[in-house]
Amino acid sequence: MKEQIYTIPVNEAYDTDCECPLCFLEHRLEQEAVEYELGAAMMEADHREESNNKGFCRRHFEMMFYGGNKLSLALVLDTHLDELRKKLAKFSKEAKAAENAKGGLFKKSTALDTAAAIASMLAGCEKTCMVCEKIDYTINRYIDVLLYMWANDEEFKKKFDRSKGVCLKHMKMILDAVPQSLKDKDAGAFISAFFEKQTKELDRIQEDIHKFTLKFDYRYKDMEWGTAHDAPFRTIEKISGYIKNEDEEKKS
Ligand SMILES: [Zn+2]
Ligand SMILES: [Zn+2]
Repeated sequence: MKEQIYTIPVNEAYDTDCECPLCFLEHRLEQEAVEYELGAAMMEADHREESNNKGFCRRHFEMMFYGGNKLSLALVLDTHLDELRKKLAKFSKEAKAAENAKGGLFKKSTALDTAAAIASMLAGCEKTCMVCEKIDYTINRYIDVLLYMWANDEEFKKKFDRSKGVCLKHMKMILDAVPQSLKDKDAGAFISAFFEKQTKELDRIQEDIHKFTLKFDYRYKDMEWGTAHDAPFRTIEKISGYIKNEDEEKKS
């Protein structure tokens, strides 16, 4: 049997009524990872070295900003910005030389090469995020376990059939994992069943979001909402994955 540290959370997520059990897991991982960055990670020299280099994406910087530990955040930012400035400083000579590169095609192209090299370095910085990397690693382990249980655990297969499918982001990740996680004999059956399930669940979401639009038409004002009242939120979740729902937070 696959490691329980992965099977237990996957089973638990499939026992939860939600649009995507992997988003449910991802949300939890994300909160833990952000908390870790501003807590225990502060004491780990190796981790700090890596986070100084890789940094965080905008979403996770934003979560850290609202995480309530401004001193830890400032320490992380101080050393990360220092790294970024060092990376930029490597181009200082070339950038200065570009000033004189007005005349002649060759000189101009050298200046443009410098611009392209700096832009490419910055693009590389934008792509790395400590929290995203950690989440991706663990979600891929969860997906491996999910596929294993689908093929080997009848109980789980029933849960999978009863679920509301997954979001499109996680649909892609699951399909990417099929070749290495499922034996050939199971891969075809899974792809077919999974595709059918996803199509059915997307039909359901489409019905709900369409019904939501009709409620703004006076001719339908007495129509029952059914499950459509929070359709915009669930449609976004289904297309792109977990988002914060402030409407729900206000209610509770
Ligand atoms: Zn998802
Ligand atoms: Zn991130």
